[in-house]
Amino acid sequence: MRFDTQCVRAGISPDPSTGAIVPPIFQSATYVLEEVGKTKGYDYTRSSNPTRATLEAALAGVEGGKYAACFASGMSAVDAVLRTLSSGDHVVCSDDVYGGVSRLFNTILTRHGMSFSYVNTSQPELVREAMRPNTKLIWIETPTNPLLKVSDVEVLAKIAHERGIKLAVDSTFATPALLRPFEWGADIVMHSTTKYLSGHNQIIGGAVITNDPDFNTAMHYQQKAIGAVPSPFDCWLTLAGLKTLHLRMARHSANGLQVARYLEAHAQVARVSYPGLESHPGHAVAKRQMSGFSGMISFELKGGIAAGRALMNAVKLCSLAESLGAVETMITHPATMTHVDVPVADRHARGLTDGLVRLSVGIEDCADIIADLEQALVIAARAR
Ligand SMILES: *Cc1c(COP(=O)(O)O)cnc(C)c1O
Repeated sequence: MRFDTQCVRAGISPDPSTGAIVPPIFQSATYVLEEVGKTKGYDYTRSSNPTRATLEAALAGVEGGKYAACFASGMSAVDAVLRTLSSGDHVVCSDDVYGGVSRLFNTILTRHGMSFSYVNTSQPELVREAMRPNTKLIWIETPTNPLLKVSDVEVLAKIAHERGIKLAVDSTFATPALLRPFEWGADIVMHSTTKYLSGHNQIIGGAVITNDPDFNTAMHYQQKAIGAVPSPFDCWLTLAGLKTLHLRMARHSANGLQVARYLEAHAQVARVSYPGLESHPGHAVAKRQMSGFSGMISFELKGGIAAGRALMNAVKLCSLAESLGAVETMITHPATMTHVDVPVADRHARGLTDGLVRLSVGIEDCADIIADLEQALVIAARAR
């Protein structure tokens, strides 16, 4: 099956008992045994559930991997991967990862004896330099949140494999519609299915996909041992969203490029970060390894925090909200929202300036999105 067909059909077959074309929601905690020791493949929903199994088969198919395991959130999926490591192990991580990922690493996993080095993984030589004898994993995001830095998956996979360790890619921003990490050598692909994969702002979920049967067994063992599993209903909603992934990502990418070009030409905007723009430092790598550039943009307003705040309060169509990757356009101001807890100096050192705005461009008519930004930028200019 080709990719677009995989999105609609992978892992899904008519329900054997009724012929229902949509897999039913198996909202059941437990399963009756035929006799002692004889199940129909399911015994307790923390361990496995038919609706979750259908979603796992669909996600593995769409990502082009052999196996998938679903978790209650993107964060619990990240946690499941990291729990395969042990006290004393070291991880090399992208320096601009999702805030929740660095929070988990720095405030919880370090207490369990793991250590982390953050480097700009857009520069592979920095990854090589950060390697230690006890480095067990390279964890990257590409493009990153919120600065949209791009890393070369193929080069980083080679660096990991030279050392006999794994490369894990948080591919939430790109999705399998735009980036195929396994084809470039990645060992583990992780998604916050909350974002583009489900796509409709209805659920919180995560997934880990791999071709390694032992790693897959470890992921399913964690579902059973720890229990951070998604509900059957959330799995079912994710399945419904996944069927239009190819169509949505094409539209997110088309709208994203148009909005990025509009912002780059705007007098009120100091700088735009979008991997699809020629001005983006990772454009060449993004163009080679991706088949589109997604709907995520970050941009810097002239006038710093006052202008940023004014813009946020002036938008009408764009929703002022912390998530991303859904059909609705959403706008976030890292300095006052997602990264408000990061000390100002650290924030600025990371390039998260006070005027930085993150936009998750939705699939509305692009002219309406641009008209909303235009009226809000006029108001933001007065706040300078
Ligand atoms: C949202 C997000 C996560 C965390 O996922 P949740 O579903 O919110 O737990 C991890 N990585 C990236 C890149 C994200 O955008």
